[in-house]
Amino acid sequence: MLFLDNSYLKEFECKIVNINNNQIVLNQTIFYAKSGGQPGDTGTLSNKEYDINIIDTSYDVEKNIVHITENDINFDINEKVKGKINWKTRYKHMRMHSALHLLCSVIPFEVTGGQIGFDKSRLDFNIQDSKIDKEEIEHKINQIVKQDLEISYQWITNEELDKQSKLVRTMSVKPPRKTNRIRLVKIGNVDLQPCGGTHVKSTKEIGEIKIGKIENKGKMNRRVNLSING
Ligand SMILES: [Zn+2]
Repeated sequence: MLFLDNSYLKEFECKIVNINNNQIVLNQTIFYAKSGGQPGDTGTLSNKEYDINIIDTSYDVEKNIVHITENDINFDINEKVKGKINWKTRYKHMRMHSALHLLCSVIPFEVTGGQIGFDKSRLDFNIQDSKIDKEEIEHKINQIVKQDLEISYQWITNEELDKQSKLVRTMSVKPPRKTNRIRLVKIGNVDLQPCGGTHVKSTKEIGEIKIGKIENKGKMNRRVNLSING
């Protein structure tokens, strides 16, 4: 999971560990696997003869990242290959993911769900009777973007996280716990939460955020949509 320490890697070298029908497991990867509302990366894996399209990336039951191909796979186990992700899509997902953390920081209610997309993203909040003011939220969030706050990581153990359960903002998304290391994503001093997603390095990279429709999706689901410029 090379993307956890450096989300800006676009190409990498790796070894094939396992092939199961149209699914490949590698010894290391920069492909983000679908989780936490963020879609899996697409891209290519290549040896000297072939380029294979990776059309999706997800986790198997053992929590390995599997790279899913469209057609038959001509690679061998232990073969060294080069990988490349579709950077345009991934970078948009990074900006969107960081934008959703900011949204979370300006709306002081529990998050009940969320989804990141290329054109728009959304978070659902457990807001029952209170109203949220769209213009006010949009102004607040863009003020943070303009401040160009640093987005950095801190690592803690499961035990440390359990002691600070306030840090978990989402009821539906639990941070991955494969190893006893959990990554916290820190945005200046406005937001700190466990998250395994890919983020930009500073809030300015997100660009101008536009708050879209605010929809009522049931008692615990006030849905806030957003898009970003560019
Ligand atoms: Zn996140």
